[in-house]
Amino acid sequence: PEAFLSVRDLRVRFSTEDGIVKAVDGLSFDVERGKTLGIVGESGSGKSVTNLTVLGLHNRKTTEIDGEIVLDGQELTGASERELEKLRGNKVAMIFQDPLTALSPYYTVGRQLSEPFMKHRGASKKEAKARAIEMLDKVGIPQPALRFNDYPHQFSGGMRQRAMIAMALMCDPDLLIADEPTTALDVTVQAQILDLLKDLQQEFGSAIIFITHDLGVIANMADDLLVMYAGRAVERGSVREVLRAPQHPYTWGLLSSMPRLGGDTGESLVPIPGSPPSLLNPPTGCPFHPRCAFTDQVTGASCSGERPSLGAGRAAACHLTGEQKQTIFIDQIKPR
Ligand code: SF4
Ligand code: MG
Repeated sequence: PEAFLSVRDLRVRFSTEDGIVKAVDGLSFDVERGKTLGIVGESGSGKSVTNLTVLGLHNRKTTEIDGEIVLDGQELTGASERELEKLRGNKVAMIFQDPLTALSPYYTVGRQLSEPFMKHRGASKKEAKARAIEMLDKVGIPQPALRFNDYPHQFSGGMRQRAMIAMALMCDPDLLIADEPTTALDVTVQAQILDLLKDLQQEFGSAIIFITHDLGVIANMADDLLVMYAGRAVERGSVREVLRAPQHPYTWGLLSSMPRLGGDTGESLVPIPGSPPSLLNPPTGCPFHPRCAFTDQVTGASCSGERPSLGAGRAAACHLTGEQKQTIFIDQIKPR
């Protein structure tokens, strides 16, 4: 099946006072209609930048982009601001971690839902209001016709998140990009919002890109998974495959530092030693080599000298052999 969104060899660089940041360095992925791609990685791994680029929300003056982004047959890297604006209104919508990035405190929730709909769809005020109330109802806001006239500060944190999702759904987007959408919420509300997103996906058939640092959330939300490190994809596969038998040392680190589902309470977490590399001056070869515990098991290649590539389909960008990738996890990582 042809992917709804196809990204090929994407490179994103931006200039800062300190030099050029290589935020994304040769990234390829596909998202199919109606499916969820999870993108996981630590902060600074390039996962948010990737999606701002897809939406054309990067700063065009300071950012340089190479590669291909094809959304529903349309090439985006060369698209004009006007074309992108149209796309953002009609095909793609974004849900942020902080609803106040999307919702202004100065206007009522209803007005903020209606106006883009009038603009992008040529709807009348009355039609837009009816649609907004319908969407507020869908995301579980009680008494939506009354709440239509409220300001964002009159909503609780969870309700604001729901209102932002309603806003994202107004134009029936084919692709929803959710960037850490529940990180700021308490666990119960988080679970409710995630369930809501899954239900809405069923109903609307949207593709979702779900960005998070939380593998537990991904396990529950995504079909496919891309693990990012230092602006590159280091592992890819179905969520099932990657979580059951991860093949990249960085993914092993992420899994070991995650509280085990149903595990003993008080079990100590093993964080990945070291910190994410600077993207001003990324490490040579494999970007993970300064933090990797398995470099001495690699033969016939140099972790600091040669950059491992990520093959097609289920793959991990690492110089370990296929057999090592499978057995090290089972023998050394899993039985903590
Ligand atoms: Fe570790 Fe080398 Fe594999 Fe990179 S290529 S993850 S440094 S073993
Ligand atoms: Mg981020």
